[in-house]
Amino acid sequence: MSNNYEQIKKRRTFAIISHPDAGKTTLTEKFLLYGGAINQAGSVKGKATSKHAVSDWMEIEKQRGISVTSSVLQFNYDDCCINILDTPGHQDFSEDTYRTLMAADSAVMVIDASKGVEAQTRKLFKVCVLRNIPIFTFINKMDRDANDPFDLLDEIEKELGIKTCPINWPIGSGKEFKGVYDRNTNHITTFKAISTGGSKEAASTEVDLKDDSLKAMLGESFHEKLLEDIELLDGASAEFDMEEVSKGKLSPVFFGSALTNFGVENFLQHFLTMTTSPLPRNSSVGKIDPFDEDFSAFVFKIQANMNKAHRDRIAFMRICSGKFEAGMEVLHVQGGKKMKLSQPQQLMAQERKIIDEAYAGDIIGVFDPGIFSIGDTITNSNKKFLFEGIPTFAPEHFARVRQIDTMKRKQFMKGITQIAQEGAIQIFQEFNSGMEEIIVGAVGVLQFDVLKYRLENEYGCDIRMESLPYEHIRWIENENYDMNDLKTISDLKKIKDMKGNPLLLFANVWSIKTLLDRNEGLKLSEFGKNM
Ligand code: GDP
Repeated sequence: MSNNYEQIKKRRTFAIISHPDAGKTTLTEKFLLYGGAINQAGSVKGKATSKHAVSDWMEIEKQRGISVTSSVLQFNYDDCCINILDTPGHQDFSEDTYRTLMAADSAVMVIDASKGVEAQTRKLFKVCVLRNIPIFTFINKMDRDANDPFDLLDEIEKELGIKTCPINWPIGSGKEFKGVYDRNTNHITTFKAISTGGSKEAASTEVDLKDDSLKAMLGESFHEKLLEDIELLDGASAEFDMEEVSKGKLSPVFFGSALTNFGVENFLQHFLTMTTSPLPRNSSVGKIDPFDEDFSAFVFKIQANMNKAHRDRIAFMRICSGKFEAGMEVLHVQGGKKMKLSQPQQLMAQERKIIDEAYAGDIIGVFDPGIFSIGDTITNSNKKFLFEGIPTFAPEHFARVRQIDTMKRKQFMKGITQIAQEGAIQIFQEFNSGMEEIIVGAVGVLQFDVLKYRLENEYGCDIRMESLPYEHIRWIENENYDMNDLKTISDLKKIKDMKGNPLLLFANVWSIKTLLDRNEGLKLSEFGKNM
């Protein structure tokens, strides 16, 4: 058996997804507290306090810096080595946010109990479904007035199309939050908010459902409601089925309050028993076993260095098999070159540290002299294979971009192509015209500012940008589709990618539907082909 077995066996790598403000940061902090990785909650990331000044580069850099340092957190808990991948939100929302999910083995979805399913959760959820990874739901902020728990589950099932199975069940909410009932043990953990020196905590006791004192503890009406709910749940909710969980078809649901640290450790414990160590990954030669002796990894994110003096980049890779050792020689398969990965680093809470070794399941960042692209495979075996590529995710913002000085065509194309290769933006052209104009698509609007700034500062190209009124892009799945056959509609723009593949831009979802109605057999996709 491989020497790496023990290390890899204890790895768990998950992404945490939510809409901004649902409590992702707070929950992450509590996880880290349990892992002993930080001593004090509140130290995970410096929240952007002031409104984001888009014109101020330093601000962008700071913002990016924050998302880098907090993008992967590793901690140990209960004999497991856990990697949490943060999915940046707010203005930082970008294609990287989606790509991060490619590196995770499961996802934890945090939902605000008073808001239910929100826009960003919906978007990220779609990518989790694409990957069939297990999705765990933490319904947060039960210490505040919450929506009815049955309605919340209904909403998740209807809106996201996943079955749910509550593992625990809340009793009341807000000021009347009494605690949660564990459906497995039939125990109730009571909740009582206490304030200690400004920080919020909860005191709790464990009581069995059959315990005589329970009625008095909860009050008659809550007690009665609980018994009713249990009966309803046992009749109505999906039965727990590990197989379904592991395929991402059934989401185990937990209720709690991250801020008061209520239900967090219990969640973590269940999570660890319901997830596995890294699973084999698809490649051009079949599945690659994580316990394989040979090291292999793929690049899922490239971060440009914002410091003008250092035009280098950091490539983040997810290790898929074996062990990484600093100084080892590896093969960059796409580039066909052997090389040493330099300055390998890992991110622990706030600090980056140079590492000597890492295992399947871990994420490392390495110095990239400009050779890696998103999706590239790195191995140290003699087998040449490629990991399954990373899809291109639909941008939601589009702009027409022109360089102001027409003499600088070359720099402009070089710059915009390189920035697109890093994966921050996607570039397209008008379907029926040449290269004069470029249409840029971005998942987050901040990327336009980054593009403009970098073209000016790194490539000496001033540009003019005109935003376009489209929000949806679709790839055409039909092979060799002839755009001339398309029965078109108003509000539709035909474009092509730099390889000439046709794509469509729509102003709204209704026009997508209209177009599909008019063109029988046309197949559209929200995800681009593998990069
Ligand atoms: P993120 O944007 O998802 O990372 O959300 P944060 O963790 O930053 O939380 C957003 C706000 O909600 C902060 O003010 C938190 O203190 C608050 N919050 C987080 N969890 C809870 C909770 O369980 N109860 C209450 N009452 N507030 C919470």
